[in-house]
Amino acid sequence: MEFEKIENALKKGEGEEVRIRGWIYRKRRTGKLIFAVIRDSSGIIQTVVEKGKVSEEEFNDAKKALIESSVEVEGIIHEDERAPGGRELHVTKFRVVSFAEDFPITEHQSVEFLLDNRHLWLRSRKLTEVMKLKSEILRFIREWFHENDFYEVTPSVITMNAAEGGATVFSFDYFGQPAYLSQTAQMYLEAMIFSLERVWSLTPSFRAEKSRTRRHLIEYWHLEAEEAWVDNKKNMDLQEEMISHVCRRVAEECKPQIEFLGRKAEELKAIEPPFPRIKYERALEILREKGFEIEWGDDFGVPHERALVEEEEKPIFVTNFPVEAKAFYMKIAPDGKTVECADMLAPEGYGEIIGGSEREESIESMIERLKKDGANIENYEWYFDLRRYGSVPHSGFGLGVERLVYWIAKLDHIRDATPFPRLLRRAYP
Ligand code: ATP
Ligand code: MN
Repeated sequence: MEFEKIENALKKGEGEEVRIRGWIYRKRRTGKLIFAVIRDSSGIIQTVVEKGKVSEEEFNDAKKALIESSVEVEGIIHEDERAPGGRELHVTKFRVVSFAEDFPITEHQSVEFLLDNRHLWLRSRKLTEVMKLKSEILRFIREWFHENDFYEVTPSVITMNAAEGGATVFSFDYFGQPAYLSQTAQMYLEAMIFSLERVWSLTPSFRAEKSRTRRHLIEYWHLEAEEAWVDNKKNMDLQEEMISHVCRRVAEECKPQIEFLGRKAEELKAIEPPFPRIKYERALEILREKGFEIEWGDDFGVPHERALVEEEEKPIFVTNFPVEAKAFYMKIAPDGKTVECADMLAPEGYGEIIGGSEREESIESMIERLKKDGANIENYEWYFDLRRYGSVPHSGFGLGVERLVYWIAKLDHIRDATPFPRLLRRAYP
Protein backbone atom coordinates (compact mmCIF):
# COMPACT_ATOMS: atom_id res chain seq x y z
CA MET A 1 0.00 0.00 0.00
CA GLU A 2 1.24 3.49 -0.90
CA PHE A 3 1.53 6.28 1.65
CA GLU A 4 -1.18 8.91 1.34
CA LYS A 5 -1.24 12.55 2.30
CA ILE A 6 -3.36 13.14 5.39
CA GLU A 7 -5.52 15.52 3.37
CA ASN A 8 -6.51 12.55 1.15
CA ALA A 9 -6.92 10.17 4.06
CA LEU A 10 -9.50 12.61 5.46
CA LYS A 11 -11.55 12.19 2.28
CA LYS A 12 -11.85 8.41 2.65
CA GLY A 13 -15.05 6.68 3.77
CA GLU A 14 -15.83 4.45 6.74
CA GLY A 15 -13.85 1.22 6.71
CA GLU A 16 -11.27 2.19 4.10
CA GLU A 17 -7.68 1.24 4.70
CA VAL A 18 -4.96 3.92 4.58
CA ARG A 19 -1.26 4.31 5.23
CA ILE A 20 0.19 7.66 6.31
CA ARG A 21 3.48 9.03 7.60
CA GLY A 22 4.37 12.16 9.49
CA TRP A 23 5.10 13.49 12.97
CA ILE A 24 3.26 13.23 16.26
CA TYR A 25 1.58 16.57 16.80
CA ARG A 26 -0.32 15.88 20.02
CA LYS A 27 -0.77 12.84 22.20
CA ARG A 28 -2.87 11.67 25.13
CA ARG A 29 -3.58 8.31 26.73
CA THR A 30 -6.56 6.85 28.52
CA GLY A 31 -5.86 3.33 29.73
CA LYS A 32 -5.78 0.99 26.75
CA LEU A 33 -6.16 3.80 24.20
CA ILE A 34 -3.54 6.15 22.86
CA PHE A 35 -4.79 9.13 20.85
CA ALA A 36 -1.99 10.45 18.67
CA VAL A 37 -2.67 13.33 16.32
CA ILE A 38 -0.33 12.99 13.34
CA ARG A 39 0.63 15.86 11.05
CA ASP A 40 2.17 15.97 7.61
CA SER A 41 2.51 18.85 5.15
CA SER A 42 -1.14 18.53 4.16
CA GLY A 43 -2.90 18.48 7.53
CA ILE A 44 -3.57 16.61 10.77
CA ILE A 45 -5.48 13.43 11.61
CA GLN A 46 -6.29 11.75 14.89
CA THR A 47 -5.14 8.16 15.20
CA VAL A 48 -6.29 5.72 17.87
CA VAL A 49 -3.89 3.00 18.99
CA GLU A 50 -5.67 0.34 21.04
CA LYS A 51 -3.92 -2.26 23.15
CA GLY A 52 -4.44 -5.65 21.53
CA LYS A 53 -5.13 -4.19 18.05
CA VAL A 54 -1.41 -3.70 17.38
CA SER A 55 1.56 -5.76 18.52
CA GLU A 56 2.72 -5.40 22.13
CA GLU A 57 5.94 -3.77 20.92
CA GLU A 58 4.09 -1.27 18.72
CA PHE A 59 1.76 -0.32 21.57
CA ASN A 60 4.71 0.27 23.87
CA ASP A 61 6.49 2.35 21.22
CA ALA A 62 3.36 4.44 20.71
CA LYS A 63 3.17 4.91 24.48
CA LYS A 64 6.80 5.95 24.70
CA ALA A 65 6.99 8.19 21.63
CA LEU A 66 7.09 11.90 22.46
CA ILE A 67 5.64 14.62 20.26
CA GLU A 68 7.58 15.30 17.05
CA SER A 69 8.62 11.65 16.79
CA SER A 70 8.35 10.57 13.14
CA VAL A 71 5.99 7.70 12.43
CA GLU A 72 4.45 5.47 9.78
CA VAL A 73 0.90 4.40 10.52
CA GLU A 74 -1.59 2.02 8.91
CA GLY A 75 -5.21 1.68 9.81
CA ILE A 76 -8.91 1.82 9.03
CA ILE A 77 -10.81 5.08 8.57
CA HIS A 78 -13.62 5.65 11.01
CA GLU A 79 -16.07 8.51 10.66
CA ASP A 80 -16.32 10.49 13.88
CA GLU A 81 -17.72 14.00 14.15
CA ARG A 82 -15.65 14.80 17.21
CA ALA A 83 -12.30 14.22 15.50
CA PRO A 84 -10.58 17.06 13.60
CA GLY A 85 -11.59 16.65 9.95
CA GLY A 86 -14.47 14.32 10.92
CA ARG A 87 -12.39 11.12 10.57
CA GLU A 88 -10.07 9.14 12.76
CA LEU A 89 -7.71 6.35 11.95
CA HIS A 90 -8.02 3.11 13.90
CA VAL A 91 -4.46 1.87 13.88
CA THR A 92 -3.43 -1.62 12.81
CA LYS A 93 0.28 -0.87 12.48
CA PHE A 94 2.31 1.81 14.27
CA ARG A 95 5.98 2.17 13.42
CA VAL A 96 8.17 4.83 15.04
CA VAL A 97 10.77 5.91 12.49
CA SER A 98 12.68 8.11 14.95
CA PHE A 99 11.97 8.78 18.62
CA ALA A 100 12.09 12.53 19.31
CA GLU A 101 13.78 13.97 22.36
CA ASP A 102 11.77 16.28 24.63
CA PHE A 103 10.61 19.01 22.23
CA PRO A 104 11.72 22.40 23.60
CA ILE A 105 8.70 24.30 22.27
CA THR A 106 5.58 24.17 24.39
CA GLU A 107 2.69 26.60 24.67
CA HIS A 108 3.15 30.19 25.86
CA GLN A 109 6.76 30.87 25.03
CA SER A 110 8.38 34.22 24.42
CA VAL A 111 8.91 35.61 20.93
CA GLU A 112 12.68 35.58 21.53
CA PHE A 113 12.65 31.91 22.50
CA LEU A 114 10.60 31.04 19.43
CA LEU A 115 12.99 33.00 17.20
CA ASP A 116 15.98 31.20 18.77
CA ASN A 117 14.21 27.96 17.88
CA ARG A 118 12.95 29.08 14.50
CA HIS A 119 14.27 25.89 12.85
CA LEU A 120 11.81 23.94 15.02
CA TRP A 121 9.03 26.54 15.23
CA LEU A 122 8.69 26.30 11.45
CA ARG A 123 6.73 23.10 12.16
CA SER A 124 3.92 25.10 13.77
CA ARG A 125 0.63 25.09 11.91
CA LYS A 126 0.63 28.85 11.50
CA LEU A 127 4.06 29.03 9.88
CA THR A 128 3.25 25.95 7.78
CA GLU A 129 0.16 27.66 6.37
CA VAL A 130 2.03 30.94 5.78
CA MET A 131 4.84 29.17 3.91
CA LYS A 132 2.32 27.35 1.71
CA LEU A 133 0.55 30.62 1.02
CA LYS A 134 3.82 32.34 0.11
CA SER A 135 4.70 29.54 -2.29
CA GLU A 136 1.32 29.95 -3.99
CA ILE A 137 1.60 33.75 -4.09
CA LEU A 138 4.93 33.39 -5.90
CA ARG A 139 3.28 30.99 -8.35
CA PHE A 140 0.46 33.49 -9.07
CA ILE A 141 2.96 36.31 -9.54
CA ARG A 142 4.92 34.22 -12.08
CA GLU A 143 1.66 33.30 -13.78
CA TRP A 144 0.74 36.96 -14.18
CA PHE A 145 4.11 38.05 -15.57
CA HIS A 146 4.09 35.14 -17.98
CA GLU A 147 0.57 35.96 -19.22
CA ASN A 148 1.61 39.59 -19.70
CA ASP A 149 4.67 38.92 -21.85
CA PHE A 150 7.38 39.75 -19.36
CA TYR A 151 10.74 37.97 -19.35
CA GLU A 152 12.09 36.77 -16.03
CA VAL A 153 15.73 37.81 -15.68
CA THR A 154 18.44 37.16 -13.10
CA PRO A 155 20.42 40.30 -12.13
CA SER A 156 23.36 40.20 -9.73
CA VAL A 157 23.04 41.03 -6.05
CA ILE A 158 26.68 42.15 -5.76
CA THR A 159 26.92 45.75 -6.91
CA MET A 160 29.07 48.87 -6.84
CA ASN A 161 26.04 51.18 -6.80
CA ALA A 162 24.38 51.97 -3.49
CA ALA A 163 21.10 52.82 -5.19
CA GLU A 164 18.83 53.66 -2.27
CA GLY A 165 21.45 55.66 -0.42
CA GLY A 166 24.32 55.14 1.99
CA ALA A 167 22.65 54.74 5.37
CA THR A 168 21.06 51.36 4.85
CA VAL A 169 23.59 49.64 2.60
CA PHE A 170 25.79 46.68 3.57
CA SER A 171 29.28 47.07 2.19
CA PHE A 172 32.06 44.54 1.93
CA ASP A 173 35.51 44.12 0.43
CA TYR A 174 35.39 42.83 -3.13
CA PHE A 175 39.01 41.85 -3.85
CA GLY A 176 40.25 45.19 -2.56
CA GLN A 177 37.39 47.33 -3.82
CA PRO A 178 34.29 48.44 -1.90
CA ALA A 179 31.13 46.67 -3.04
CA TYR A 180 27.58 46.42 -1.71
CA LEU A 181 24.80 43.92 -1.23
CA SER A 182 22.04 45.03 -3.54
CA GLN A 183 19.11 47.07 -2.25
CA THR A 184 17.37 46.85 -5.61
CA ALA A 185 17.93 45.31 -9.03
CA GLN A 186 16.32 48.26 -10.75
CA MET A 187 19.28 49.69 -12.62
CA TYR A 188 20.18 46.28 -14.02
CA LEU A 189 16.59 45.73 -15.08
CA GLU A 190 16.64 49.11 -16.81
CA ALA A 191 19.66 47.95 -18.81
CA MET A 192 17.74 44.87 -19.92
CA ILE A 193 14.62 46.60 -21.29
CA PHE A 194 16.66 47.72 -24.30
CA SER A 195 16.76 44.12 -25.50
CA LEU A 196 13.72 42.55 -23.82
CA GLU A 197 11.34 45.54 -23.30
CA ARG A 198 9.43 43.98 -20.38
CA VAL A 199 11.42 42.28 -17.65
CA TRP A 200 10.98 41.20 -14.06
CA SER A 201 13.15 39.57 -11.43
CA LEU A 202 12.98 38.08 -7.96
CA THR A 203 16.13 38.61 -5.90
CA PRO A 204 17.05 39.07 -2.27
CA SER A 205 17.47 42.74 -1.32
CA PHE A 206 19.40 43.89 1.71
CA ARG A 207 18.66 46.92 3.87
CA ALA A 208 20.63 47.67 7.01
CA GLU A 209 17.47 49.12 8.61
CA LYS A 210 18.26 50.48 12.06
CA SER A 211 14.65 51.19 12.92
CA ARG A 212 12.57 48.43 14.45
CA THR A 213 9.18 48.23 12.79
CA ARG A 214 6.75 45.43 12.12
CA ARG A 215 7.39 45.60 8.41
CA HIS A 216 11.14 45.92 7.90
CA LEU A 217 13.40 42.95 7.35
CA ILE A 218 17.14 43.20 6.82
CA GLU A 219 16.97 40.71 3.96
CA TYR A 220 13.81 40.33 1.90
CA TRP A 221 12.66 38.98 -1.47
CA HIS A 222 12.28 41.82 -3.89
CA LEU A 223 10.10 41.43 -6.90
CA GLU A 224 10.88 44.07 -9.47
CA ALA A 225 9.61 44.87 -12.94
CA GLU A 226 10.70 47.33 -15.58
CA GLU A 227 8.92 48.20 -18.81
CA ALA A 228 9.91 50.20 -21.87
CA TRP A 229 7.43 52.68 -23.40
CA VAL A 230 5.43 52.97 -20.20
CA ASP A 231 4.67 56.11 -18.18
CA ASN A 232 3.89 56.38 -14.46
CA LYS A 233 0.15 56.07 -15.01
CA LYS A 234 0.40 52.90 -17.10
CA ASN A 235 2.88 51.58 -14.54
CA MET A 236 0.21 51.94 -11.84
CA ASP A 237 -2.37 50.19 -14.06
CA LEU A 238 -0.03 47.22 -14.35
CA GLN A 239 0.64 47.10 -10.61
CA GLU A 240 -3.03 47.09 -9.71
CA GLU A 241 -3.73 44.37 -12.27
CA MET A 242 -0.95 42.22 -10.88
CA ILE A 243 -2.02 42.66 -7.25
CA SER A 244 -5.67 42.00 -8.15
CA HIS A 245 -4.68 38.86 -10.03
CA VAL A 246 -2.73 37.53 -7.05
CA CYS A 247 -5.58 38.33 -4.62
CA ARG A 248 -8.18 36.67 -6.83
CA ARG A 249 -6.06 33.53 -7.31
CA VAL A 250 -5.36 33.29 -3.58
CA ALA A 251 -9.11 33.57 -2.91
CA GLU A 252 -9.72 30.77 -5.44
CA GLU A 253 -6.94 28.38 -4.54
CA CYS A 254 -5.78 28.99 -0.98
CA LYS A 255 -9.01 28.76 1.02
CA PRO A 256 -7.62 26.46 3.76
CA GLN A 257 -4.59 28.69 4.30
CA ILE A 258 -6.39 32.02 4.42
CA GLU A 259 -9.22 30.66 6.55
CA PHE A 260 -6.70 29.34 9.06
CA LEU A 261 -5.00 32.75 9.10
CA GLY A 262 -8.24 34.71 9.50
CA ARG A 263 -8.39 36.30 6.04
CA LYS A 264 -11.72 36.08 4.21
CA ALA A 265 -11.82 35.12 0.53
CA GLU A 266 -14.44 37.85 -0.12
CA GLU A 267 -12.05 40.51 1.11
CA LEU A 268 -9.49 39.41 -1.47
CA LYS A 269 -12.03 39.07 -4.27
CA ALA A 270 -12.99 42.71 -3.67
CA ILE A 271 -9.45 43.82 -4.56
CA GLU A 272 -10.12 44.93 -8.12
CA PRO A 273 -8.92 47.82 -10.26
CA PRO A 274 -9.05 50.77 -10.14
CA PHE A 275 -7.30 51.54 -6.83
CA PRO A 276 -7.80 55.10 -5.52
CA ARG A 277 -4.98 57.47 -6.53
CA ILE A 278 -4.11 60.54 -4.49
CA LYS A 279 -1.26 62.98 -4.74
CA TYR A 280 1.26 63.47 -1.95
CA GLU A 281 -0.11 67.00 -1.52
CA ARG A 282 -3.60 65.65 -0.81
CA ALA A 283 -2.14 62.96 1.50
CA LEU A 284 -0.48 65.75 3.51
CA GLU A 285 -3.85 67.46 3.97
CA ILE A 286 -5.46 64.22 5.11
CA LEU A 287 -2.64 63.62 7.58
CA ARG A 288 -2.88 67.14 8.97
CA GLU A 289 -6.65 66.73 9.38
CA LYS A 290 -5.83 63.61 11.39
CA GLY A 291 -3.54 65.63 13.64
CA PHE A 292 -0.09 64.88 12.22
CA GLU A 293 2.49 67.64 12.10
CA ILE A 294 4.14 67.04 8.79
CA GLU A 295 5.98 69.36 6.40
CA TRP A 296 6.14 69.37 2.61
CA GLY A 297 9.25 67.32 1.75
CA ASP A 298 8.95 64.80 4.58
CA ASP A 299 8.69 61.16 3.54
CA PHE A 300 5.98 59.09 5.19
CA GLY A 301 6.79 56.75 8.04
CA VAL A 302 4.86 53.78 9.36
CA PRO A 303 2.34 55.85 11.41
CA HIS A 304 1.56 58.15 8.46
CA GLU A 305 0.94 55.28 6.08
CA ARG A 306 -1.17 53.47 8.63
CA ALA A 307 -3.32 56.57 9.07
CA LEU A 308 -3.79 56.91 5.31
CA VAL A 309 -5.09 53.36 4.81
CA GLU A 310 -6.56 52.28 8.14
CA GLU A 311 -10.11 52.63 6.81
CA GLU A 312 -9.40 51.42 3.28
CA GLU A 313 -10.48 48.05 1.91
CA LYS A 314 -8.45 48.26 -1.28
CA PRO A 315 -4.86 49.42 -1.72
CA ILE A 316 -4.34 53.07 -2.64
CA PHE A 317 -1.62 54.86 -4.60
CA VAL A 318 0.09 57.99 -3.34
CA THR A 319 1.76 59.78 -6.26
CA ASN A 320 3.95 62.81 -6.88
CA PHE A 321 6.19 62.94 -3.84
CA PRO A 322 8.51 65.95 -3.53
CA VAL A 323 11.77 65.62 -5.48
CA GLU A 324 13.83 65.80 -2.29
CA ALA A 325 11.99 62.88 -0.66
CA LYS A 326 12.76 60.37 -3.41
CA ALA A 327 15.65 58.79 -5.31
CA PHE A 328 17.71 60.47 -8.05
CA TYR A 329 16.40 58.26 -10.86
CA MET A 330 12.74 59.28 -10.60
CA LYS A 331 11.49 61.51 -13.38
CA ILE A 332 10.79 65.10 -12.40
CA ALA A 333 7.16 66.04 -13.13
CA PRO A 334 6.17 69.09 -15.26
CA ASP A 335 5.54 71.04 -12.01
CA GLY A 336 9.30 70.87 -11.33
CA LYS A 337 8.89 70.08 -7.63
CA THR A 338 7.49 66.53 -7.58
CA VAL A 339 8.48 63.24 -9.19
CA GLU A 340 6.41 60.85 -11.31
CA CYS A 341 6.28 58.16 -8.67
CA ALA A 342 3.71 56.08 -6.84
CA ASP A 343 3.75 54.13 -3.60
CA MET A 344 1.08 51.48 -3.29
CA LEU A 345 -0.20 51.25 0.28
CA ALA A 346 -2.02 48.11 1.39
CA PRO A 347 -5.34 48.57 3.21
CA GLU A 348 -6.27 47.94 6.86
CA GLY A 349 -3.27 50.01 7.93
CA TYR A 350 -0.65 47.67 6.41
CA GLY A 351 1.08 50.44 4.45
CA GLU A 352 3.61 50.42 1.62
CA ILE A 353 3.93 47.26 -0.43
CA ILE A 354 5.16 48.73 -3.74
CA GLY A 355 7.36 51.66 -4.72
CA GLY A 356 7.43 52.58 -8.37
CA SER A 357 8.22 55.43 -10.73
CA GLU A 358 8.82 56.64 -14.23
CA ARG A 359 12.58 56.98 -14.74
CA GLU A 360 14.42 60.24 -15.30
CA GLU A 361 15.91 60.65 -18.76
CA SER A 362 18.03 63.76 -18.14
CA ILE A 363 21.59 62.87 -17.16
CA GLU A 364 22.20 66.43 -15.82
CA SER A 365 19.20 66.22 -13.51
CA MET A 366 20.37 62.87 -12.14
CA ILE A 367 23.94 64.10 -11.61
CA GLU A 368 22.67 67.15 -9.76
CA ARG A 369 20.59 65.02 -7.41
CA LEU A 370 23.33 62.40 -6.93
CA LYS A 371 25.77 65.15 -5.97
CA LYS A 372 23.37 66.39 -3.32
CA ASP A 373 23.39 62.85 -1.86
CA GLY A 374 27.20 62.83 -1.93
CA ALA A 375 27.32 59.83 -4.29
CA ASN A 376 30.34 58.85 -6.37
CA ILE A 377 29.24 59.86 -9.89
CA GLU A 378 31.83 57.67 -11.65
CA ASN A 379 30.06 54.49 -10.55
CA TYR A 380 26.96 55.63 -12.44
CA GLU A 381 28.63 56.15 -15.82
CA TRP A 382 27.36 52.81 -17.12
CA TYR A 383 23.84 53.78 -16.04
CA PHE A 384 24.04 57.12 -17.88
CA ASP A 385 24.98 55.17 -21.04
CA LEU A 386 21.42 53.80 -21.00
CA ARG A 387 20.24 57.38 -21.59
CA ARG A 388 22.87 58.00 -24.27
CA TYR A 389 22.05 55.08 -26.56
CA GLY A 390 18.43 55.07 -27.64
CA SER A 391 16.72 56.09 -24.40
CA VAL A 392 12.95 55.55 -24.23
CA PRO A 393 10.31 56.52 -21.66
CA HIS A 394 10.22 53.70 -19.14
CA SER A 395 8.90 52.86 -15.69
CA GLY A 396 9.12 50.14 -13.12
CA PHE A 397 8.31 49.09 -9.61
CA GLY A 398 9.50 47.01 -6.67
CA LEU A 399 7.34 44.87 -4.41
CA GLY A 400 8.48 43.38 -1.13
CA VAL A 401 7.15 39.83 -1.32
CA GLU A 402 7.05 39.51 2.48
CA ARG A 403 5.10 42.79 2.70
CA LEU A 404 2.48 41.28 0.38
CA VAL A 405 2.31 38.08 2.44
CA TYR A 406 2.19 40.15 5.67
CA TRP A 407 -0.93 41.91 4.40
CA ILE A 408 -2.71 38.99 2.67
CA ALA A 409 -2.07 36.62 5.59
CA LYS A 410 -3.08 39.31 8.14
CA LEU A 411 0.15 38.78 10.09
CA ASP A 412 1.03 41.01 12.99
CA HIS A 413 4.74 41.10 12.11
CA ILE A 414 6.58 40.70 8.80
CA ARG A 415 9.05 38.22 10.36
CA ASP A 416 6.47 35.46 10.00
CA ALA A 417 6.35 35.96 6.23
CA THR A 418 9.84 34.47 5.86
CA PRO A 419 11.31 31.24 7.29
CA PHE A 420 14.55 32.61 8.75
CA PRO A 421 13.98 36.33 9.38
CA ARG A 422 17.01 38.59 9.45
CA LEU A 423 16.24 41.35 11.94
CA LEU A 424 18.19 44.00 13.77
CA ARG A 425 20.82 41.95 15.67
CA ARG A 426 19.39 38.58 14.62
CA ALA A 427 20.82 36.32 11.96
CA TYR A 428 20.57 33.01 13.90
CA PRO A 429 19.52 30.34 13.15
P1 ATP B 1 9.81 51.87 3.38
O1 ATP B 1 9.50 53.32 3.27
O2 ATP B 1 8.66 51.06 3.84
O3 ATP B 1 11.09 51.61 4.13
P2 ATP B 1 11.16 52.01 0.89
O4 ATP B 1 10.64 53.30 0.39
O5 ATP B 1 12.50 51.95 1.51
O6 ATP B 1 10.08 51.36 1.89
P3 ATP B 1 11.64 50.93 -1.73
O7 ATP B 1 13.07 51.32 -1.65
O8 ATP B 1 10.74 51.66 -2.65
O9 ATP B 1 11.02 50.92 -0.26
O10 ATP B 1 11.56 49.36 -2.00
C1 ATP B 1 10.52 48.76 -2.77
C2 ATP B 1 9.68 47.83 -1.92
O11 ATP B 1 10.50 46.91 -1.20
C3 ATP B 1 8.87 48.51 -0.84
O12 ATP B 1 7.68 49.03 -1.36
C4 ATP B 1 8.62 47.38 0.12
O13 ATP B 1 7.54 46.56 -0.31
C5 ATP B 1 9.88 46.56 0.02
N1 ATP B 1 10.79 46.85 1.12
C6 ATP B 1 11.61 47.91 1.26
N2 ATP B 1 12.33 47.82 2.38
C7 ATP B 1 11.97 46.65 2.97
C8 ATP B 1 12.37 45.98 4.16
N3 ATP B 1 13.31 46.48 4.96
N4 ATP B 1 11.79 44.79 4.47
C9 ATP B 1 10.84 44.27 3.66
N5 ATP B 1 10.44 44.85 2.52
C10 ATP B 1 10.98 46.03 2.18
MN1 MN C 1 13.06 51.90 3.55
